[in-house]
Amino acid sequence: MKPYLKRAWAEVSLEQLRKNIRIIKELNSPSTEIMAVVKADAYGHGYESVCRCLQEECGIKYFAVSNLDEAIAVRGLCPKAEILILGYTPPEYAHEISHYNIIQGVVSAEYAKALCRGSRGGIRCHVKVDTGMGRIGLRYASPRECAEEVSEICGIQGLSVEGIYTHFAVADSDSPENIAYTDAQEKFITDTYDELSEMGIKLQHLHFMNSAATCYRNSSRSTLSRAGIIIYGLHPDISLEIPQGLEPVMALKAVISQVKTVEAGQCISYGRTFVTDREMRIATVTIGYADGYSRLLSSKGEILVHGKRCRIVGRICMDQLMIDVSHVPEAESGDIVTLIGRDGDEIITADELASVYGTIGYEVVCGISKRVPRIYID
Ligand SMILES: *Cc1c(COP(=O)(O)O)cnc(C)c1O
Repeated sequence: MKPYLKRAWAEVSLEQLRKNIRIIKELNSPSTEIMAVVKADAYGHGYESVCRCLQEECGIKYFAVSNLDEAIAVRGLCPKAEILILGYTPPEYAHEISHYNIIQGVVSAEYAKALCRGSRGGIRCHVKVDTGMGRIGLRYASPRECAEEVSEICGIQGLSVEGIYTHFAVADSDSPENIAYTDAQEKFITDTYDELSEMGIKLQHLHFMNSAATCYRNSSRSTLSRAGIIIYGLHPDISLEIPQGLEPVMALKAVISQVKTVEAGQCISYGRTFVTDREMRIATVTIGYADGYSRLLSSKGEILVHGKRCRIVGRICMDQLMIDVSHVPEAESGDIVTLIGRDGDEIITADELASVYGTIGYEVVCGISKRVPRIYID
């Protein structure tokens, strides 16, 4: 293990990552391969170790990223992988797309032509269809019209169309209206694929499963499951259970720098928002919002100290925060505390933290800042 400053750090369990992948493989039918979504530095887990582990130890061949920089970074680690850019690449970088043998998501015939004009080696792509997410992709009233447009795109000189795909907006919901909405999205993309087949265009890939669909509506028709958040063991939506055994990969830790006893009526931290109502033992912890631990958790979040939950008191500072350790007499300077993860019988997940301040686990893990070293265990 590389030496690191014991101030604030994230522990990433590669063993849990491997376990999550094994579980996802079991969820998928034999006709579906995992496309590991490693955008945003592998959801904050650190793409280098994550990609290496996924490729070498889990046999993952397909990766998805958000942009060209991420794609080139993954290519550096995984020379043989298939790498799909889900988002936009400006056509002036078309040459890099082909040079690094990247697959680009294509959203229109116009965009595909612009890419081909800029590339010397030809462009590989999957065509993105907007079936209800309202974000990017071809948008048509019927699968027939959509298939006609895809077929036109297939005819563009220098372009190799290897698949079509779409993205679900509410696959993480079990309400009947939302299930119907996702059913309609799935029907649109599979019908488009079938129309293309009837026109004699047999594409290698048709994919629409994200993490939520992989968990709740797995389909053998999706050749790839673009699994993101469940790889890292978090919930697509906090209100729905995820399959047994999928557990968080990342823990977030820091240390106590000082413990002091403070009498009643004293102010803690900026703004004097917290005033002790009795004599309290207050510990200062070496992490703050510049580490990605949101200031919105001020006076709300909890931290584990010696397996006990301790409340954050007052405002979270840039590099430090204070907690009430009155009920943890053994707490002392130098102790390791857990902001995300397990300590004894207690556990705080990124999903729990997210719900405390009104966001999703995705944002919590992606938001752990660069200053926090990622330490890879097992
Ligand atoms: C981010 C993303 C995914 C992965 O989503 P999860 O909910 O993390 O599984 C899949 N497909 C597309 C197009 C995405 O942008």
